[in-house]
Amino acid sequence: MNDVEGSEDRVEHAHPHAHSDGSHDHAHRQPAPGQDVERRWIELEHLHFSYPDGVEALRGIDLDVARGQKIGLVGPNGAGKSTLMLHLNGTNRATHGAVRIGGVTVDDDSVRRIRAAVGLVFQDPDDQLFSPTVFDDVAFGPLHMGIPAEELHARVEAALAAVGMSGSERRLPHHLSIGQRKRVALATVLSMEPSVLVFDEPSAGLDPRGRRQFIALLRSLSQTVVVATHDMRLVADALPRTVVMDDGLIVADGPSTDILADAALLERHGLEAP
Ligand code: ADP
Repeated sequence: MNDVEGSEDRVEHAHPHAHSDGSHDHAHRQPAPGQDVERRWIELEHLHFSYPDGVEALRGIDLDVARGQKIGLVGPNGAGKSTLMLHLNGTNRATHGAVRIGGVTVDDDSVRRIRAAVGLVFQDPDDQLFSPTVFDDVAFGPLHMGIPAEELHARVEAALAAVGMSGSERRLPHHLSIGQRKRVALATVLSMEPSVLVFDEPSAGLDPRGRRQFIALLRSLSQTVVVATHDMRLVADALPRTVVMDDGLIVADGPSTDILADAALLERHGLEAP
């Protein structure tokens, strides 16, 4: 996995004081840094963001997402969901506060690594697919990262297999169905081997079967996943934790079963129960 530099080390040495007999050195009560980073794979600290025209789109966001956790990000239009998502890969930069991925702060020095570690999947796959063949689209990211040709083929194969599109390398993206194009768009990001995946309205435009297949795919992913959506059934079916945003703030955060059962909360923030 394309973790942000150095983080893999900390993960692998999460128990540096464990003894060979399985006991722990009680002199070290502080959690090892690795465990801390695992619990906060995505870490937003007092995040504020204003657009150049002065609109304050994020007004103090604190959010931790553990490694491998899958969350739904919901809220009415204008709540700040897209603005927040674009902070996760360094497209937007905090006006105040900090964004950390795998323990690494997003800044000018880290942004290239952050881009490789955080894959953004757009709502419209046609914004992500622009090459003559599926292979070229899925190979594009790793190729520009300097991955050698032998590994490139393996990466493309693995990414297409993960989305159920094995063998489609030579197909023309614009000949595929919307559901297939969405899968390939996800593969273009998976080929970078990111540790975080961020989806914007992934179920939009899918028919019921495509939707079911997408939910199964979402569940099968091992990455840390953030899904911004109005599709509360998608949240109920695939995302154990829900974060509700409104007017640039997080207004609720908890198990999806609790949040989705709170009709008054949902109504206050322009949402509907699934
Ligand atoms: P959501 O994704 O939840 O619909 P956004 O993040 O798109 O919310 O928007 C949050 C706020 O920021 C809104 O008030 C919106 O009008 C404003 N906004 C979004 N993009 C821009 C932009 N490029 N320039 C100025 N204001 C923006």
